[in-house]
Amino acid sequence: MTERRVYMDCHATTPVDPRVAETMWPYFTERFGNPGSVSHSFGHEAKEAVDQARASIARAIGAQPREIVFTSGATESNNLALRGVAERPRRKGNHFVSVRTEHPSVLDPLEHLARHGFRLTLLDVEQPPSPQAGRLDPARVAEAIAHDTLLVSVMLANNEIGVIQPLAEIAAICRAKGVLLHCDATQAVGKLPVDVAALGVDLLSFTAHKIYGPKGVGAPYLRRSSPAVRLEPQIFGGGQEAGFRSGTLNVPGIVGLARALELCQAEMATEIPRLSALRKELFERLTGALEGVSLNGPALDRPELRLAGNLNLSFAWVDGEALLMAMRNLAVSSGSACTSADPKPSHVLRALGQNDDQARASLRFGLGRFNTADDVAFAAQAVEEAVRRLRRLSSMA
Ligand code: PMP
Repeated sequence: MTERRVYMDCHATTPVDPRVAETMWPYFTERFGNPGSVSHSFGHEAKEAVDQARASIARAIGAQPREIVFTSGATESNNLALRGVAERPRRKGNHFVSVRTEHPSVLDPLEHLARHGFRLTLLDVEQPPSPQAGRLDPARVAEAIAHDTLLVSVMLANNEIGVIQPLAEIAAICRAKGVLLHCDATQAVGKLPVDVAALGVDLLSFTAHKIYGPKGVGAPYLRRSSPAVRLEPQIFGGGQEAGFRSGTLNVPGIVGLARALELCQAEMATEIPRLSALRKELFERLTGALEGVSLNGPALDRPELRLAGNLNLSFAWVDGEALLMAMRNLAVSSGSACTSADPKPSHVLRALGQNDDQARASLRFGLGRFNTADDVAFAAQAVEEAVRRLRRLSSMA
């Protein structure tokens, strides 16, 4: 008999929903045409599928179909948005504003631009013990915008502590000052209602593999009117995607992204309360059973401030890596998976004022569609046992 394993790391990635896989399948096999082939029905069929997917994705986020550009994911989309705006001839500024707790796929391109002559301001977030820990105060954005600010980049939901940022308020400030706003909505699309018009953003990135779709496909939204965002492509070639992103389209991936988003939209109203209840149960079991457990990020009872499936906890007197190693059958992460090749403690927890040791003693749980109450009981027991064992060992040392 195989041992039971539980996956609770849905901020890193999610399994493809079988309903999504089923929709994708024909586009690998009989409907394999290149949507750029205009001279035969194989191409037309593929183009028709891409057009339908584009329309469905645009509808889900309140955009126009021509504002959706297909890429390989959120990392590429963030690079296209930030570097594309920076490299535009006759751009109107030289200064970027972002936040210390952004994902590396935003921070690294911005730091790259800063090494090439741009100015970069990184804003601090609210500190614990505020129930809004991790939130960006929009007033900080207003203060940071200068005469030469080109673009502000703020994520909608954080991949480590689940904090949801006040994007509509930030957008109103940017709009009033004539500054572009980019939003990394990778952890938010499909999990919260996201409407680009209501949010007032100019560029927005997301990816399929966080919402039970396939890896390697994303779709930045680029505003095309009133006013249109101007940006330089980052990948040149056949001129696909109105020249914004050359390369043969990933048709099965695009069809999968659209189907994944449709399912998330249809199930969101029941999924949010279900995940919040599972998370509450996990939090209560762990804090009830163990001393020295503290919550990182905003309060759990503020759904407008925190993603329903996110829990991030610090365990005093243990090392997070040792804790992960001690729980082989529970998939969670310490810090974020994207930086786990890198032994540095989480930059997000450091931005919340934790020292290296505190930041290392943390676990991130990402609950998702396929988690059940049984999984929560399994996870709580695995964590309790591992923490107790490690604390016993360290008190003997
Ligand atoms: N932004 C955020 C907030 C993320 O969580 C991730 C994935 N870890 C990315 C961007 C990168 O997405 P992708 O894997 O599609 O490149």
